[in-house]
Amino acid sequence: MAAKKQGRGKPKRKPAGSTGKGRPGKIAGEETSEKGGSKKGGGKGDSPPRGSAGDDEHRKRRRIIQEQIDRGLDEAALSDLTRNAYGRAMGVVLARLTPTALSRVFRAVKEYRFYRSFGAMTEAIRRKYPAIKIKPGHVVKGFLDRDGTMHLDGGGVLFGRPARQEEFFAHEMAHALDRPDYEISGTDEWYDAWNDEINATDYLSGEAKRSPQEGFAEFGAMLLGSGVSAKQVKQLLPKCVKVWEQRGIL
Ligand SMILES: [Zn+2]
Repeated sequence: MAAKKQGRGKPKRKPAGSTGKGRPGKIAGEETSEKGGSKKGGGKGDSPPRGSAGDDEHRKRRRIIQEQIDRGLDEAALSDLTRNAYGRAMGVVLARLTPTALSRVFRAVKEYRFYRSFGAMTEAIRRKYPAIKIKPGHVVKGFLDRDGTMHLDGGGVLFGRPARQEEFFAHEMAHALDRPDYEISGTDEWYDAWNDEINATDYLSGEAKRSPQEGFAEFGAMLLGSGVSAKQVKQLLPKCVKVWEQRGIL
């Protein structure tokens, strides 16, 4: 997507149209697409509390999500090796979701689809949304579409450096946490945290500076998809961590 990098002074509070489905300038959802920049990783969510009243509900949602993921993996044209690697990476990300985070994913994502390559995923998305604008030579690396299907493929180079599979998956999961309508990344609290700690620094990728929404997803990629602990992330980005904690998603 062709959003301009916003300046450090006074970027807009929200991109135009951010209350509708999908993103401005893009018709169908939230993607991870190849662009320049670099990215640092790190982060680990807390495990769900044990013995709380919502435990049963949490377990039930977790089981249903796992079944949705397993179905997606079964139906995908993947080698066993790749299928296992994807399944393991999804497991890592899922394990880092708090009960609140998991319930948001449960609500937002109806289906998971996996692809063996960026090209295969991009083709599938073009088939589903013929009007979508993907620049020639521009490959989509992860995509949560407006109908609640999460499209995922392998790791590889993300924003100019090799990235773990979990980070790709976690980026899209973070977009799911933010539904509907950028419910968290569209708040003033997140805007301020993003502007101070992401937009004005180089801790995260250039992609993360594109908008509070992409910053939210990149922050999620770090927290949920890389090996750095939440405690370490908190030292670097305390305001961002606070927003996630207040929302119960960390
Ligand atoms: Zn994104």
